[in-house]
Amino acid sequence: MNNICLELKNIRRTYGTKETQIDVLTDVNLTLKAGEIVALVGPSGSGKSTLLHIAGLLDTPTGGTICVNGQNVSQATDKQRTVMRQKAIGFVYQSHLLLPDFNALENVMLPQLIAGVSRSNAQKRAEELLAQVGLADRMTHRSGQLSGGEQQRVAIARALANKPSVLLADEPTGNLDPKTADTVFASLLQLVRQTGLSALIATHNPELALQMDRQVTVQNGVLIDLTTKGTL
Ligand code: ADP
Ligand code: MG
Repeated sequence: MNNICLELKNIRRTYGTKETQIDVLTDVNLTLKAGEIVALVGPSGSGKSTLLHIAGLLDTPTGGTICVNGQNVSQATDKQRTVMRQKAIGFVYQSHLLLPDFNALENVMLPQLIAGVSRSNAQKRAEELLAQVGLADRMTHRSGQLSGGEQQRVAIARALANKPSVLLADEPTGNLDPKTADTVFASLLQLVRQTGLSALIATHNPELALQMDRQVTVQNGVLIDLTTKGTL
C-alpha cells in the first residue's frame, strides 16, 4: 500500500550557462501524502514556479528523482510523461489559459476527450465539476463572457477533469481581487478536500496558506517545512 502521491528527492534545477549559472533549486526534498494539501510560500523569485513545473513534469530537473504514485518518472520518455500528466496530475496556472473559442463545458470536456473518455461521459463529468465550483448556470458561456473569478473556477474544474491524484496550482488566485480570490480559493479547497486528492499550491497570501495542512518554502535552493519549524 503506497499512500505517497508525489515524491521529490534531491531535486536540483540550474538555469543558464556555466558563466551565468543560477542554482534555483539545489537539493529539494518533498513528500506529498494522499489527501494532503501543502502550501508553497515564499517571495517572488524563490523558485515556486520552477518547483511546480518540475513536479508537474512540465520541466526536467538538472538532477534528482521524481515519483508520481510510486512510479519513478525521472527517466520517462516525453510520451510517458505526457500520459502521466494527463492521468495523474492536474495543473492550475495563475492565468486561466482557457481556450477562447470554446465554452466552459467544452473547456472542461477537452482534456477528457484527449484522454479517450467518451463524449457523453466527458460532458457528464464536466457538468458535475462546473456545478461543484458554482458555475451550473454558466456552462455555455465562452471564457470571454466570464468574470476573472469564474474563468479561474473553470480552470480548476478543467484541472480535475481527468481525476488526477495530485493537483498543482501556481498562485491560482494571484490575478484576482482579494474578495474574489477568497471565494475562489474556498471553492478550490472544498473541492480538493471532497475529492481526497493531494495538492501543492503556491500562494503569496499567508491567510490562504494557513488554511492548508502544512506550509513549505524554498530557501537558498532547499525546501523547508515552516510548520515543523514553527516559523509561520
Ligand atoms: P517564483 O515562482 O517563486 O517567483 P521562479 O521559479 O519563477 O520563482 O524563479 C526562480 C528564479 O529562477 C528567478 O531568479 C528566476 O529569474 C529564475 N528563472 C526562472 N525561469 C528561468 C529561466 N527559464 N531561465 C533563467 N532563469 C530562470
Ligand atoms: Mg512564480
